[in-house]
Amino acid sequence: MPGFVTSISYMKKRLLVIGGGAAGFFCAINAARLNRGLEVIIAEKSNKLLAKVKVSGGGRCNVTHAYFDINAMSRQYPRGSNFVKRTFHRFFTTDTISWFEEREVRLKTEKDGRMFPDSDSSQTIINCLLKESEKYGVEIKMNTEVKKVNAHDSIFNVQFLKGENIEVDYVCIASGGYPKSSMFDWLKELGHDIADPVPSLFTFNMPGNPITKLMGITVGNVKVKIHGIKLEEQGPLLITHWGLSGPVILRLSAWGAKELATCNWQFSISVNWLPEFNEQSLREKFQQLRFDIAAQKLVNKNPFGLPSRLWEFHIGQTGINTDTRWADLSIKDQNRVIKNLCEFVCLIKGKTTFKEEFVTAGGIRLDEIDPQTMMSKKLPNLFFAGEVMNVDAITGGYNFQHAWTSGFIAADSIAKKASG
Ligand SMILES: Cc1cc2nc3c(=O)[nH]c(=O)nc-3n(C[C@H](O)[C@H](O)[C@H](O)COP(=O)(O)OP(=O)(O)OC[C@H]3O[C@@H](n4cnc5c(N)ncnc54)[C@H](O)[C@@H]3O)c2cc1C
Repeated sequence: MPGFVTSISYMKKRLLVIGGGAAGFFCAINAARLNRGLEVIIAEKSNKLLAKVKVSGGGRCNVTHAYFDINAMSRQYPRGSNFVKRTFHRFFTTDTISWFEEREVRLKTEKDGRMFPDSDSSQTIINCLLKESEKYGVEIKMNTEVKKVNAHDSIFNVQFLKGENIEVDYVCIASGGYPKSSMFDWLKELGHDIADPVPSLFTFNMPGNPITKLMGITVGNVKVKIHGIKLEEQGPLLITHWGLSGPVILRLSAWGAKELATCNWQFSISVNWLPEFNEQSLREKFQQLRFDIAAQKLVNKNPFGLPSRLWEFHIGQTGINTDTRWADLSIKDQNRVIKNLCEFVCLIKGKTTFKEEFVTAGGIRLDEIDPQTMMSKKLPNLFFAGEVMNVDAITGGYNFQHAWTSGFIAADSIAKKASG
């Protein structure tokens, strides 16, 4: 049975934020800052604060993305696109940049739009958030897992796993993504439904596929199609010792997260290594090459700028004699090379979690949360922030932006409610 009950002192309103990650800290700090009369507590189940911020972006923390157009930004979210379109009107990338800058953390933009602290260290972000939480008197309870939240008469009674109970006026759930549906049970008890969690942002395994011998090779621009679900993406691809990775694969894993989980990550794809061509136009190009570089050996002359080991691999795969010259290429062999270049079919057997930026798709259903306030539509004064909601994005700083945005909106709503 629970030990003692910490009850409300009735002069001060009290907010409990569940989870000491990016979203939880942003909510707690801003709520305490915007309403200095509010008592704010963070309950974190582990012995670490901001653990994902620490490891994020390879230890550099990709804080946000240099997108300044809400529509363009919201298109990076396979789940929650319409929802974030509304929340970004309240707190967007520009607000994140200013928020950190006002606290002497300058962000820099890389060529691909990803934004990192000038220091290139996630510790800068952690130090800033910890300093702010201290400045505004946020109380932090470590090793404190919330087991149950009971709501009665506009008061929440929150039970911690280790026995203690606490009574609060507002609860913000910022507990992050959970890999298993059953881990959401304590939230379902509050009347909320969840979209079943599935992993997103993973690479594709192809055990035993001979192409994996080319591990380490990057191809700047390929088109990859997933068979059966009409999903295709274009971009850089990396061949690894276990299969395929790189931005194009990660984007497919995010957009196809649900369907790929349904087929237990067993599916087939085709790769067009020369996306500027289709089979027809590549055939025409081959006719011209047979004429232009007739005397050259096919294997030695790679006219498409593909990495030479990859070009040799494609020629080798078709079993063409390595002495064959462009002029002597039979139509049958030509068609086989073209097929390999435009529609290289791979069987995918399993996935590997992308260690740089893994997220869980799924979580609290968005039709049960008001995007203007982040308040539950089922239970007044219950708020949500971050990955616990059914919002997730591709890599690039978008997941943190959602954490900052939802954390801020929840904080602002709670601060106003508490003073009203
Ligand atoms: C390795 C890695 C790198 C990443 N890099 C980037 C990046 O560079 N840019 C980007 O945009 N995104 C990145 N992401 C994704 C990003 O980290 C997450 O989307 C983001 O951290 C979500 O923040 P959150 O606060 O919602 O959840 P979390 O950071 O997961 O925090 C939730 C916290 O709640 C606690 N908790 C859970 N249940 C309870 C409970 N019952 N009681 C008390 N506490 C509880 C957890 O212990 C945890 O500390 C990365 C993810 C990973 C795994």
